[in-house]
Amino acid sequence: MLQVKNVSFAYTKTKVLAKISFDVLKGETLAVIGESGSGKSTLLKLIYGEYDIKEGEVWWNNKQILGPAFNLVVGYDFIKYVTQEFDLMPYTTVEENIGKYLSRFYPKQRQKRTDELLKVVELDAFAKTKVKNLSGGQKQRVALARALAKEPEILLLDEPFSHIDNFKKQSLRRSIFSYLREKGISCVVATHDKNDVLGFAHKMMVLHNKEIIIKDTPQKIYNNPKLPLVASFFEEFSVVDDKIYYAHQLKIVEQSNFKAIVTTSYFNGKDWLIEAKYKSESIFITHLTSLKTGGTIYFEIDR
Ligand code: ADP
Ligand code: MG
Repeated sequence: MLQVKNVSFAYTKTKVLAKISFDVLKGETLAVIGESGSGKSTLLKLIYGEYDIKEGEVWWNNKQILGPAFNLVVGYDFIKYVTQEFDLMPYTTVEENIGKYLSRFYPKQRQKRTDELLKVVELDAFAKTKVKNLSGGQKQRVALARALAKEPEILLLDEPFSHIDNFKKQSLRRSIFSYLREKGISCVVATHDKNDVLGFAHKMMVLHNKEIIIKDTPQKIYNNPKLPLVASFFEEFSVVDDKIYYAHQLKIVEQSNFKAIVTTSYFNGKDWLIEAKYKSESIFITHLTSLKTGGTIYFEIDR
């Protein structure tokens, strides 16, 4: 089990994180969300042992994670960290990058493992390509495969699919998370993409103003977002008489006590997102068709 106990951290004088505590069980995935600059990457670096922690502690089972003041080489064998920058070797091939941490004394097993991982990240066709000739998304996939090569006990992912296009994203996400589940690898993933969280994370926490403001299952947080900041992570929402509703929770009807004026209709695939003004505030309502701008509508709350 990973335990983060009352950790506070500052790079300079101002604190970036204050009194952060949480656990991640074996095989569990925790998603960390929060605006840019809220300290997600910093938190991952602290768990990895990249900095010395002066206030609080991080433990993996019976081992305390310590920073560079205590370790000549930063990091531990059992933790792998895929940074936002990837840190690959550009002049060597994809397969050499993936096999970097695997023993050269067992060339057959090394090749087998590398081939298996090339499949997981769907890069079989690029095994012999030099990393410098890959796109950003392909590099990100090499970094993911390399982190998995030695089957870490904990995997730290920093916005892992941010460079990967939508054509590949869904299937890659499924294959990475099912791999983690199968091998019982714990994972902390910093993300701004709700799709990394909803179907895959066991727990989720929101960082804001240096602190954890909410920590629960994705289902519970989605169903009761409590704050506009949290709702905005998931979907378009409106605040109607001080309560938060997602666009699909409002419904346009013939007549009601809620009257609004249509501002814009956005095509959304299976339906439209209608933006309207209600008591001079913008609200968002899911509807099957587009609506005329300037038209009057009535809506009700559909629970
Ligand atoms: P996030 O990943 O959520 O976008 P970060 O952890 O990267 O947030 O950054 C949190 C805060 O710490 C930001 O205000 C950022 O400017 C600051 N910060 C990040 N890295 C450093 C650093 N190496 N030195 C000083 N300040 C930093
Ligand atoms: Mg970051």
